[in-house]
Amino acid sequence: MRDISAGDRLRALIDTETTPREPGTPAAASDVAPRARVVAVAELPTRFGAFHLVAFQNDRDGNDHLAMVHGDVIGAEDLPTRVHSECLTGDVMGSLRCDCRDQLEELRLLARQPRGLLLYLRQEGRGIGLVNKLRAYALQEQGLDTVEANLALGFRDDERDYAVAASMLDALGVRSIHLMTNNPTKLGELTRHGVRVTGRIAHAMPPNVHNRFYLETKARRSGHMLDMRPGARVDRAARVLTEARLLD
Ligand SMILES: [Zn+2]
Repeated sequence: MRDISAGDRLRALIDTETTPREPGTPAAASDVAPRARVVAVAELPTRFGAFHLVAFQNDRDGNDHLAMVHGDVIGAEDLPTRVHSECLTGDVMGSLRCDCRDQLEELRLLARQPRGLLLYLRQEGRGIGLVNKLRAYALQEQGLDTVEANLALGFRDDERDYAVAASMLDALGVRSIHLMTNNPTKLGELTRHGVRVTGRIAHAMPPNVHNRFYLETKARRSGHMLDMRPGARVDRAARVLTEARLLD
């Protein structure tokens, strides 16, 4: 009998039962726990390594969220996991205004582990959307910092919602994660939504001349655990992973 592969196990999760919300449908009341379900699975060889791409639909926000799965994650404990929110300008266009692309490229580190997971959440611009993110950038050009700009547009500093992410982890059968993040809010929100976070993998990128102020604002105003000293972060992510003994 043929071995059941990781891909077979993922494909077995596909749920074809219910009708998805139409794209663009407004979010439902946030006091009801959303349900995310797997709707498509495909192999995705990437420049970072071999993954399966898993598409989800959910009853909360009408967005098609994604998981990039490396190895067999179903039933995994202490799974190295990054929860990444979409940033078109950084992820795709290579913007230096933020560190999103660098963080996304940590897929390379995940691919070196026996198993790893990246949830790609389609909540652009900390949840305010692409157009409003550009408006916030324009305000920053006038001297506001990231937080002030979002507030000036009538949003909270961070509008991201991790309830769907928690449901995605549940749908994948992930038991507990080691979260790659410097963001204490993200860690707290995932925990609040029922995710067992059994460890944190610090990751930090060298700042550049364009994003230094942005990163300093993250550290100062949003409590991000960043070390801004010059030279403090060369190969930091790789080193921390080693320290966390995930390369055993
Ligand atoms: Zn970004």
